[in-house]
Amino acid sequence: MNIELARAWVRAIGAAVERDRERLGELDAAIGDGDHGANMQRGFAAAVAAVDAMSPESVGAVLTKTGTTLVSKVGGASGPLYGSAFRAAGKRLAAERAETAEVGAALSAALDEVRRLGGAQAGDKTMVDAFAPAVDAFARAADSGGRLDAAARAAADAAAEGLRATEPMQARKGRASYLGERSIGHPDPGAASTALVFRALAEATAE
Ligand code: ADP
Ligand code: MG
Ligand code: MG
Repeated sequence: MNIELARAWVRAIGAAVERDRERLGELDAAIGDGDHGANMQRGFAAAVAAVDAMSPESVGAVLTKTGTTLVSKVGGASGPLYGSAFRAAGKRLAAERAETAEVGAALSAALDEVRRLGGAQAGDKTMVDAFAPAVDAFARAADSGGRLDAAARAAADAAAEGLRATEPMQARKGRASYLGERSIGHPDPGAASTALVFRALAEATAE
């Protein structure tokens, strides 16, 4: 990954959450307060503007700026969680280029930060249920010599599968947990946005 690709990734996320804003909002309306689409759209629009305006000296600078912007622009659970995740990834990528395995390690650090901050385990019906399989799939692809685009594709597929798996789960973290058993039968909105984040990485690396 190089600086321009990191920027292209952030732009691709911005485009995806703009396009799917309504769907994310509807998913959140079913088991939360309905603002997840608006939160993601507002946060990533600001992040795209911020990374477009800067002259980054490293891959990590782009991701750190994205994270800082998300934390400052997005209230609610997802802003601090995604924001801290991007900052944790950014901290790991201090050079102008990063090998696929280094990107994998940065994604893993991002996931660790989401887990640490939010305290969610696998199966709690949160973004972790899409994030964790994506990070695993990315690492497996990288370990077997896969290039960045192949690893990103594997991660995106795993995140999408992780999102599907949240539907029958009962939420144990976040707002949806207030619904108890009534959260069952709906996909988790944060898992849906995480699937978009990894699909955007696959799209950006394919170009
Ligand atoms: P809010 O719930 O504050 O309105 P959003 O609607 O933007 O925030 O985001 C909701 C998403 O955040 C959930 O669908 C879930 O994936 C994620 N989330 C909430 N709490 C946690 C947590 N403790 N750990 C991990 N993810 C969480
Ligand atoms: Mg919400
Ligand atoms: Mg909210």
